[in-house]
Parts: sequence; structure tokens; C-alpha cells
Amino acid sequence: MEKVEAVRETFGERTEEVLENLRIEFTSVGGYMFVNNSNGHLMISSKYLRNGDKIDIYLDLIHELVHIKQLMEGKELFDIHYGYTERPTEIEAYCYCIKEARRIGLSEERICCYLKTEWMSEPDFKQLAKSVNVSCF
Ligand SMILES: [Zn+2]
Repeated sequence: MEKVEAVRETFGERTEEVLENLRIEFTSVGGYMFVNNSNGHLMISSKYLRNGDKIDIYLDLIHELVHIKQLMEGKELFDIHYGYTERPTEIEAYCYCIKEARRIGLSEERICCYLKTEWMSEPDFKQLAKSVNVSCF
């Protein structure tokens, strides 16, 4: 992951250091992955890692690493004043992984599939797509 441009853009010169020190926990909690904001560990659902789409997992890793950076900067990751799709920390994380998605040649349609999760309402999904400049219909 340290060679991925989007990750290097996230951490700059500290890329190797941050990745070396990052702790990952495999968990049965949650369907995908998330950052534990109390200890900075990256929590990954074992089931998702086993059965998930490899590209989705790759993009999620880039997304979550942005949250690691935000946590290091002292930002509040789960600011309840915002809904998920309008939270600035989420928009920033999505911008990095979408940039990488385009770099690896994913179509806009495939990126839309990536953005759309089962727990997101249609209006929220459209708002998110708009915020991160992906044209989804
Ligand atoms: Zn996120």
C-alpha cells in the first residue's frame, strides 16, 4: 500500500512510518471496515476480507487510511452533527479513493456501484455522488 499514490498523497513522507505502526484487527463487528477512533486501529471484518470484492476492499483501504490521517490530525471521525454522506471527513476519504479508482481505470458506473451501499438511502447516495463529483444516474 505504501506504493499507492493516493496513500502517499495522504501521508507524504510519513507513509512508511504510519503504515508500519498501523495496527489492524480482524473482527466480526460491522460488514466492512472502519477505524476505531479510541485507539486508531483499523478494524476489518474477516468475513468481508474473505468474501468481499477485491477492488472494493482495495478502495476501502485507501478510504480508511484517510480516516487514520484525520484521526492523527485530531479530527472527529464520527461527528454526529452531520449525516454520513455529508460529513466532511467522509467526503475527503471518498475523494482519495475515487481518484485511485479512476487511476486504475474503473468506469464511472463501477465507481457508482462502489459508492452505493445497502444502508444508504437514494437521496443520500445522490448527494454523496454529487459531493465527490461522480455522475451516477
Ligand atoms: Zn469513511
